[in-house]
Amino acid sequence: MNVAEAISFATESLRTAGTPEPARDAKVLLAHSLGKQKTFLIAYPEFELTDDQQDRFSTVIERRADREPLHHILGRQEFYGRDFRVSPDVLIPRPETEAIVELAVSFLADRPEPSFLDIGTGSGCIAVSIAAELPTARGVATDISPSALAVACENAQTHGVAYRVSFTEGDLFGPAGDAEFDLIASNPPYIPLEEFRGLEPEVREFEPRSALTDEGDGLAIIRKIISEAPRHLKPGGRLLIEMGFGQSESVAAMIDASVWLKPAFHDDLQGIPRILEATIISPENA
Ligand code: GLN
Repeated sequence: MNVAEAISFATESLRTAGTPEPARDAKVLLAHSLGKQKTFLIAYPEFELTDDQQDRFSTVIERRADREPLHHILGRQEFYGRDFRVSPDVLIPRPETEAIVELAVSFLADRPEPSFLDIGTGSGCIAVSIAAELPTARGVATDISPSALAVACENAQTHGVAYRVSFTEGDLFGPAGDAEFDLIASNPPYIPLEEFRGLEPEVREFEPRSALTDEGDGLAIIRKIISEAPRHLKPGGRLLIEMGFGQSESVAAMIDASVWLKPAFHDDLQGIPRILEATIISPENA
């Protein structure tokens, strides 16, 4: 079997299995099985696969046909221009979450020794990206899952920021003690239970459930973070929280105008309000 034949056979079996992007996945997984770039597939459609390569490729195509997420099979996902290791213990970083990093970096960039807290760090994608972008920044990243923290630590080491981010196990603000930060960021589990049940199998069956849903209306964790954040923010400090479709009005109603400046909501590429940006009132900004 050559490259072109392998792609068409795999695309067909993934299509039959109902995966959403069969041709893309077939190519990505073939390149992965061959240990080559995708451009190799275009340049050498007649390249004959060895038996070993064919076996490896069939195995990963079968896994994908069983709806295992592409990025679990690859073991990696790109986020904010960096490569992150992922495993079934962590949420696969999503592109919409990159906006949190962008907003965090622009806010923290003017501060001399910026500090941040990342709640529910998962793969560590938010904390590691902020620290990597800002060489003087220091952060605390928390998660209730020790196995997620192990992945996050590895990603911090890979990107050379492990000495500036401390990863600690615990719920929400628990591990932060009395510390105050310039910025708090979180991509919490915000999917309502009812919506969770209707998610595609890749997400519902393979990603950590506790990273996705609060088992209720989707707003419980967001509400807790908003109510506790003021105790952990410096004057003028900022909170960034990701949310789901249709949640921005409920989230806006959680903002106490005596504590926070008027919040902003940032849309994702689909035009859905996705990130809450709220700033603590201080003598300087009041
Ligand atoms: N902070 C991680 C991310 O944004 C994990 C979030 C989560 O597990 N809910 O991808």
